[in-house]
Amino acid sequence: MGLYDALMEEPVGPIDDAPLGEEEKEALRQDLVDVQILKDVLGGQDVKGTVFFCPDCDEDHYLTWDLLAGNLQELLDAGESPVHEPAFDPNPDEYVTWDYARGFLDGYEVFEREDTDEVAGKVRRELQTKGLHADQVKAFMIKVGLEAPPPPAPPGS
Ligand SMILES: [Zn+2]
Repeated sequence: MGLYDALMEEPVGPIDDAPLGEEEKEALRQDLVDVQILKDVLGGQDVKGTVFFCPDCDEDHYLTWDLLAGNLQELLDAGESPVHEPAFDPNPDEYVTWDYARGFLDGYEVFEREDTDEVAGKVRRELQTKGLHADQVKAFMIKVGLEAPPPPAPPGS
């Protein structure tokens, strides 16, 4: 269950009153961590939160990162979320869609998790298992910028 679905899903019957499953809770906890990272990173760039289109109200809801975190926490604790409380007097320019935030986070986490050397090592091994020659692997690594080009040969050698 995605965050959007979790927040926006309309109750469809008694089955919705069932407590959240462990998997759903785990996903929500992960979302909470994500929101915290987004607040730290994007908040520094004057992105105050995220905007959701709400099919119930037929309008966009602007949620600050704190509001969103609060909603997620409530969803975790109580199984429902007060998502319809929008941020106070939001400036739309300061909010991004959740899709944008997610995409940003995916890219951000890759760079956080793996420094270039690790990536280079993986690519190198992958190319080698594909049967490329050491020279070809090296040339490829240089081409895509994962390995420094060799110093130019001294003149006259
Ligand atoms: Zn709404």
